[in-house]
Amino acid sequence: MNNELMFSKCLSPELDSRFKHLWCLVGNTPMLELQYSYKGKAGRIYVKCENYNLTGSIKDRMALYIMYKAYMNCQIQPDDVIIEATSGNTGISFSAIGKALGHQVKIIMPNWLSKERIDIIKSMGADIQLVSKEDGGFLGSIELSEKLAQQGGVFLPRQFENQFNAEAHELTTGREIGLQLASQGLVADAFVAGVGTGGTVMGVGRHLRSLNPHVKIHPLEPAESPTMSTGYKVGSHRIQGISDEFIPAIVKMDELDEIVSASDGDSIIMAQKLAKELGLAVGISSGANVIGAIKLKEQLGEEAVVVTLLCDDNKKYLSTDLVREQPVAAGYISTDLSFTGFKPIS
Ligand code: PMP
Repeated sequence: MNNELMFSKCLSPELDSRFKHLWCLVGNTPMLELQYSYKGKAGRIYVKCENYNLTGSIKDRMALYIMYKAYMNCQIQPDDVIIEATSGNTGISFSAIGKALGHQVKIIMPNWLSKERIDIIKSMGADIQLVSKEDGGFLGSIELSEKLAQQGGVFLPRQFENQFNAEAHELTTGREIGLQLASQGLVADAFVAGVGTGGTVMGVGRHLRSLNPHVKIHPLEPAESPTMSTGYKVGSHRIQGISDEFIPAIVKMDELDEIVSASDGDSIIMAQKLAKELGLAVGISSGANVIGAIKLKEQLGEEAVVVTLLCDDNKKYLSTDLVREQPVAAGYISTDLSFTGFKPIS
């Protein structure tokens, strides 16, 4: 991305160089071969470590790309306020990137997400407005952002419907995964990712499919809240960042293979194991993604190249169940698995 030779009358040379500098801190993340033993059988999956981005999550990629495209397409002015409804990581990404580009930022989010998310957003000087369940929760946050934008002087990234969200992952995350696997002579057979906006699964999926038309691209959802399977909000779950109450517009189910489900307790224990057995201190959705990948390995066999992501680090979850002992339930993947090591691939 840093070498893109394109110009726009709305992108000053000063801003253009700020974008280039930010791209040095976003993307180009490491990828690991994770080695494990599941039910006594050795296996390996490939994980992209998105906790290495500027603010510690995968969302930096789409926030930076959406901002860049907004300037390139003259959809934003330097003094516009960025307003976004988010379940947290996006708010942190737009706060950091918005501030680095000289914007005011206002984040609107449901009031039940972790306290760390709110504090991190505030620490970067962004305004934050919390919306209760009674006031509409997630959908209420989006409605409020649209209402505030009517007053003018506002840029709405609209991450749930903005095609540049998926395109960011097609051009960066997906491309990097393809190249990192190729460096080992590998091609992905399957990719799985939990769906928040769906930008990751759609974008990475499109790139991997361009490299292997037979690759399976699986969206993942919480077993306790199967919004994608049902099409509407159902239940509640503890995997912050995915399954936000509706199927986002950028998710095209006809481009995706079967939905994989992961229970939140199993995801928490898997994330705890990643930290305790390998020192990979990541968030709950990363645990869910690893469960999805192990399930696919069980279906596809020992030789299958199955890829997923570690979406963020664990620092935003230190006040949540991630750091509490979890009751074990029948059918959990995490209880029959132990990690044996990892190897970086480049
Ligand atoms: N995990 C976490 C922790 C997230 O914050 C998000 C984004 N909300 C996701 C997974 C899902 O990513 P995407 O929005 O690209 O579907």
